[in-house]
Amino acid sequence: MAAGFSLSLYPFVYKAQFNGQGWIDEIQEKPHRSPEEESAMGQSDRASLLASRNSFPDLPLINYTTQYGMGCFEGLKAFPQKDGSLKLFRPDANAERFYNSMEGLRMPAFPKDKFVQACVEIIRANAKLGFRPQYKSEWEKNHFVSADSIYIRPFSYSEGGIGVNLSVNPYVVIAATPVGSYFDPDASSKAVTTDRVRATPRGTGWIKCTANYVIPTLAKREAIDAGYMEAIFLDAQHQTYIEEGSSCNFFVLLKNGKLVTPAVEDRVLNGINRRSIMILAAERGITVEERPLNIEEVLADAVECFVTGTAAGVSFIESVTHKGRTAVFNKGKMGPLTEDLLTTLKGIQYGAVPDKHGWMVGVEL
Ligand code: PMP
Repeated sequence: MAAGFSLSLYPFVYKAQFNGQGWIDEIQEKPHRSPEEESAMGQSDRASLLASRNSFPDLPLINYTTQYGMGCFEGLKAFPQKDGSLKLFRPDANAERFYNSMEGLRMPAFPKDKFVQACVEIIRANAKLGFRPQYKSEWEKNHFVSADSIYIRPFSYSEGGIGVNLSVNPYVVIAATPVGSYFDPDASSKAVTTDRVRATPRGTGWIKCTANYVIPTLAKREAIDAGYMEAIFLDAQHQTYIEEGSSCNFFVLLKNGKLVTPAVEDRVLNGINRRSIMILAAERGITVEERPLNIEEVLADAVECFVTGTAAGVSFIESVTHKGRTAVFNKGKMGPLTEDLLTTLKGIQYGAVPDKHGWMVGVEL
């Protein structure tokens, strides 16, 4: 499996639309052959088959989402287990955030139980045909850092329309694609602050909405072009307090032993991995603080630094550069707390560490 994030849509896709009273839903079976036949296909035949799966002629192209960014989405994963089953990580938490995002964009919100059910249902339908990664015991050797999983992408999409408007009959689509490890051991893990502004007070920073990804995509590209892995956003008003990365939450372990992550308020996305890591760290007796985090404090007092997210997992940051000054953490190597949290979270997800919190939701195959 290729490292990182690419789209090889699985054939079963969920689609629902709000008709004013309720959600009318269906599971669509897109064109496919068997997984074995598909992997034996030539590159261009396979590309056209995959393109035919990413085609939704029943959805209107001109609408408030494609024209004005009035849309929101989620990202969550299903993990292959040693016993051959598949388990989703905290889909109820994504269901809740999606509900809040839709409400934040003032559209009818998608019921949370339906969200979880639909995610489980498409994973099951795809897995039954063999569209799923298989558990490999070699992943255990490096604590699942290079393990495969399934990425699930639920999103809202408005009804057709051309004027600037709210969506009253939104669609919800849930699709899935296999993903390899995001973590590339040879890549830079240096971060740099950006003076671009991702979120403003009373804005949409706390919502997982489409429009929030424009500025981060530009800032991340600028960071990569300058030799870094990630761009770190500071607060809009003072350009002093760290908020988050381009699509991940930010953590530092300070010299005083405290783990600090910026408070969410109305600007930072309340990451599900963020909340999980805060719980796992507190269980280790570590004091976890959610508060304004001054960039100067990070440069002066941090001994470990990492970012969290569904795609990033727990990714250590070797250094942070701000206006030409660089702090290197733990001699540029992953710190012991970061490694412990990374292997614990991955362990829970792949079934090697007991799931004490009941975070994993099984898919009956
Ligand atoms: N911040 C932003 C802006 C994100 O897009 C993501 C990814 N969803 C995160 C943080 C991390 O959130 P989670 O842990 O729920 O994936």
